[in-house]
Amino acid sequence: METTLTIIKPDSVAAGNAGKIIAHLEAEGFRVLALRRLHMNEAQAGTFYEVHKARPFYGELVSFMTSGPCIPIALERDNAVKHLRDVMGATNPEDAADGTIRKLYATNIERNAIHGSDSQENAAIETAFFFARVDQLG
Ligand code: ATP
Ligand code: MG
Repeated sequence: METTLTIIKPDSVAAGNAGKIIAHLEAEGFRVLALRRLHMNEAQAGTFYEVHKARPFYGELVSFMTSGPCIPIALERDNAVKHLRDVMGATNPEDAADGTIRKLYATNIERNAIHGSDSQENAAIETAFFFARVDQLG
């Protein structure tokens, strides 16, 4: 079993799509290990996406991610990191395959419904970012 981290982004929460996205993930074999809802401030969102600090879209991305509550979820499944990336679809929903979460629910390349860790190393870092260690020992 492998663990990964998703975030149901503020656009999905505002649109009332969180439940449908969680059901989609469960139907794909993911088990919810830990879940919370929070409205991130600039320091929190800026730190989470710090890897993109030099990119031209960084300021907009932080504004978007602080625009309303989001729902980070720690997920468990075989091959969880890669399978989540497959189920999410491409960053830009115009390029996302039919049936992927971004194809179904994203608005554009920024407001793209969902985040997924891109490696096992980052999954561990991102899970620890949102969830206390006790949750991972349960
Ligand atoms: P995520 O890290 O959220 O799972 P990703 O790995 O598919 O998405 P990244 O390249 O890591 O894509 O970009 C992080 C996020 O920054 C994207 O999901 C999107 O919300 C935003 N973003 C990426 N590229 C652009 C862009 N060209 N213009 C606006 N926003 C962008
Ligand atoms: Mg990414």
